[in-house]
Amino acid sequence: MKVAIIGGGIAGLATAFHLQQLGKGQIEYTLIDNASRFGGKIASVTENGFVVEGGPDSFMTQKVAGLELCRAVGLEKELMGTNQVARKVFVWSDGRLQPMPDGVTLIIPTKITPFLKSTLLTWPGKLRMGLDLFIPKRKNDDDESLAHFIRRRLGNEALDRIAAPMIAGIYVADAEALSLKSTFPRFLDMEKKYGSLLGGMLYQKYEAARAKWKARKSGGVSKTPPPGFMTLKSGLQGLPEAIVARLDPKALLPNRTVTSIQHNGSEYDLVLSDGTHLSVDALVFATPAYVTAQLLRRLDSTLAEKLQKIRYVSTATVSLGFKRSEVEHPLSGFGFVVSRSEKRKLMACAWSSTKFNNRTPDDKHVLIRAFVGGANAEGLAEQNETALVKMVRDEMQETLGITATPVITKVYRWHKANPQYDVGHDLRIAEIERLTAQHSGLYLAGAAYHGVGVPDCIADGKRVAQEIVAKMNTVPTKVRT
Ligand SMILES: Cc1cc2nc3c(=O)[nH]c(=O)nc-3n(C[C@H](O)[C@H](O)[C@H](O)COP(=O)(O)OP(=O)(O)OC[C@H]3O[C@@H](n4cnc5c(N)ncnc54)[C@H](O)[C@@H]3O)c2cc1C
Repeated sequence: MKVAIIGGGIAGLATAFHLQQLGKGQIEYTLIDNASRFGGKIASVTENGFVVEGGPDSFMTQKVAGLELCRAVGLEKELMGTNQVARKVFVWSDGRLQPMPDGVTLIIPTKITPFLKSTLLTWPGKLRMGLDLFIPKRKNDDDESLAHFIRRRLGNEALDRIAAPMIAGIYVADAEALSLKSTFPRFLDMEKKYGSLLGGMLYQKYEAARAKWKARKSGGVSKTPPPGFMTLKSGLQGLPEAIVARLDPKALLPNRTVTSIQHNGSEYDLVLSDGTHLSVDALVFATPAYVTAQLLRRLDSTLAEKLQKIRYVSTATVSLGFKRSEVEHPLSGFGFVVSRSEKRKLMACAWSSTKFNNRTPDDKHVLIRAFVGGANAEGLAEQNETALVKMVRDEMQETLGITATPVITKVYRWHKANPQYDVGHDLRIAEIERLTAQHSGLYLAGAAYHGVGVPDCIADGKRVAQEIVAKMNTVPTKVRT
């Protein structure tokens, strides 16, 4: 069976890797990418001893696909968790950096005392959050925006100072448009099951502690879970590189794109930009949805139109390395996010050399990464490099007091890079999948569909590989004439 995968980001690479693993020599795959290297948004560089990430800097381990793939490609020893010391996240609010109260997991406080002592929220704001315990749960099951949900349950201040900035940092999205169902179904379930987010969180915490206590009492050893977020010592790009090293070199076609696709009976005939012709039984699109839309338009204009409707926004990351002695700020945390009402030009700022080890040549240097753009400030990410660096340095001066000249500057501009899971995303994807299923042998994978994180994209690539192999095993071998 022959398979072509268009797009060699982590989703396309995961598809190829799992086809190779599961296909047991019966699948001949080809991986096509228009860039000169595979990995897509995963891009790292090491310069003068600084390890700089252009795209993702780590992945969540609760979703196991990332960790599993790292292990499968021999990267176990390269894995590294976030630092266990100085784990604080700050919020730029009321014109200063204020620590996120200890125990806030994403949005919801799980520790009462630090929450009550926190200066991030006013007393009326805290009381409003407490009302969550008494507000009845919503009756209908319709999707709603994350902002609507948080405002409804926890109030405006919790939205402005905790939820919206955290969400902007993860989804680079506008909380007013972001689908709750497609991004945080866990919170929706919590409301349904416990009638309250605070109550649900506290109950789950109590249950976890009870399970641990029971295990200890019965002499069982509870396994230490891996750190919540992990990366690779020499940069996350090591993952696509390790996958590529395990794929068949003859199957990899970088620097090429697809100029025409025709569906002839049970086969897809492709012509590539270098004139190569390919005939395949299955075709996987692991490209951004708007690219897939362009490539598919002549094959199915309705499907193309639906794909085109998935919105993408632009972002940029600017990494600056400094001499430690020239930065007075202690950088004692993972970084900061910005409260919605502050209107800063930075979306977030990671103190990379505190968040991870191995990010600077030595402890006499620090590395800071600024995030710019996203749903509410796309234009800022589209500026030229010089303007971006100047803007970030001005922002760092105002927020962190840094006036020093950086010893290293790295800018990554990501044009239309982040898919937006707008309210109703689940219905849009269900329709896209219904239309896709009408074309035998056609598959879609990647960040546009079932999760934007690296583990989500890996899991999606694996799912597609499993579906192709399952189909190959049920369809009798084709007799070619
Ligand atoms: C700045 C930034 C920070 C992020 N941080 C994190 C993080 O810390 N943790 C996390 O889990 N996730 C993070 N993400 C999200 C995550 O990195 C992405 O969602 C994921 O890498 C997307 O993988 P993908 O394979 O779906 O798409 P992509 O990586 O976009 O891959 C698509 C591929 O298609 C290729 N392509 C495009 N057009 C064509 C064409 N016409 N023909 C052939 N090939 C084509 C591209 O070259 C690319 O290789 C971040 C994203 C960004 C932008």
